[in-house]
Amino acid sequence: MGINPRKLHIIFFPFMAYGHMIPILDMAKLFSNRGAKSTILTTPLNSKILQKSIDTFKNLNPSLEIEIQIFDFPCVELGLPEGCENVDFFTSKNNDDRLSLTIKFFMSTRFFKDQLEKLLETTRPDCLIADMFFPWATEAAEKYNVPRLVFHGTGYFSLCSEYCIRVHNPQKIEASSCEPFVIPDLPGNIVITQEQIADRDEESEMGKLMIEVKESDGKSSGVIVNSFYELEPDYADFYKSVIVKRAWHIGPLSLCSRGFEEKTERGKKASIDEAECLKWLDSKKPDSVIYISFGSVACFKNEQLLEIAAGLEVSGTNFIWVVRKNDGNKGEKEEWLPEGFEERVAGKGMIIRGWAPQVLILDHQATGGFVTHCGWNSLLEGVAAGLPMVTWPVGAEQFYNEKLVTQVLKTGVSVGAKKRVTYMGDFISREKVNEAVRELLVGKEAEERRKQAKQLAVMAKAAVEEGGSSFNDLNSFIEEFTS
Ligand code: UDP
Repeated sequence: MGINPRKLHIIFFPFMAYGHMIPILDMAKLFSNRGAKSTILTTPLNSKILQKSIDTFKNLNPSLEIEIQIFDFPCVELGLPEGCENVDFFTSKNNDDRLSLTIKFFMSTRFFKDQLEKLLETTRPDCLIADMFFPWATEAAEKYNVPRLVFHGTGYFSLCSEYCIRVHNPQKIEASSCEPFVIPDLPGNIVITQEQIADRDEESEMGKLMIEVKESDGKSSGVIVNSFYELEPDYADFYKSVIVKRAWHIGPLSLCSRGFEEKTERGKKASIDEAECLKWLDSKKPDSVIYISFGSVACFKNEQLLEIAAGLEVSGTNFIWVVRKNDGNKGEKEEWLPEGFEERVAGKGMIIRGWAPQVLILDHQATGGFVTHCGWNSLLEGVAAGLPMVTWPVGAEQFYNEKLVTQVLKTGVSVGAKKRVTYMGDFISREKVNEAVRELLVGKEAEERRKQAKQLAVMAKAAVEEGGSSFNDLNSFIEEFTS
């Protein structure tokens, strides 16, 4: 009889934003599934977002170990509005106010350091997987000889692109702000413009934080990547051979939520009835519905929403459109919808105000295309669902992700966003919306893209099955940190 291997204990510490908490929750479930004990650190209000998913998971798997540990985060004391424990909770009509509060929020997370040290001292886990935005976690873990791993939340391609541009100092890349240039040293001759990449004022608070992030990456025990090898092999190789000591890819993490319940609970906020949404999709032909969503952070102005509505209407396609307004506009007249729009598109289009059960929608056979802001989680969920995409990047690293889809994978059509504009995005006309959606759905190239997208989905699923590339990387991680 074999000896039972020792149980691995991993502490996970996500940055408090949906795009970081959701994949880390999936990751914690994945490790529990493979016999580890997972502890997720978060704040009181964020624990409420995660608890339901964890309860569902535990009900389905009573013998597996997963728990939340709550850390204090006294917002008011830290100079933040009361209860603002998540990037998503900042509701201001003014984008500059929202941005400066968000930066303050980023800086305030350092408050966790003492609590983290105490916890590491008493529990001595086998490793700590902490978010990139917590660079101080490397030092805290070092103090107690706990290996610290970094989770960036994005894929290999954008990590490599960002690295190549950084080491080649943008001043040396001789291109004006809107002139396309080839990213130096990066495989694949990838073309981008200066206004699509983040300006790096190293003297700003965020600039300084990002320098610390890079330094702590180097000092950490490695990086966990939510991706799979077959999606971006050249960039996985480049990243591992040139940029970091160690990296393990274990994604797509969204594939570990398998049943209806698990997929529904993923980061859920009360918004619509999932069953009704699926019933609506059931009534549509395969690949006939476009799903449009811009993630949990972007928030468009009324003028832009009006253009989307008009573009969709002209395209004549079936759609599910998720509209996120963070100005608490309840009770206000919805000035972002053309007069009579919902009556005219009745039966053809569905608007979800707030939070959509995204993975359920993407995985439905009626869904045939995804208009996405190219947040890494959304992009990978779209890949795993086998969908061609209209790429509409807004901010963060989304323009890099767009280039992966349009220039490398060749499963997307760009809507034509020219520059990064945090929250609001570059203005896109109704004509461009209509053109991109039509191009995605109709014609020979559309068919090619769809075929290619379906192949990628097959590869994504194979990667996480026994013997697949992500499955194997997860195995070697577990072996290494158990011994
Ligand atoms: N999401 C969702 N419903 C929504 C909006 C977002 O389930 O209405 C999920 C989505 O499936 C993804 C995450 O929230 O897992 C958003 O992460 P992403 O990296 O795509 O974008 P971000 O929100 O960070 O910009």
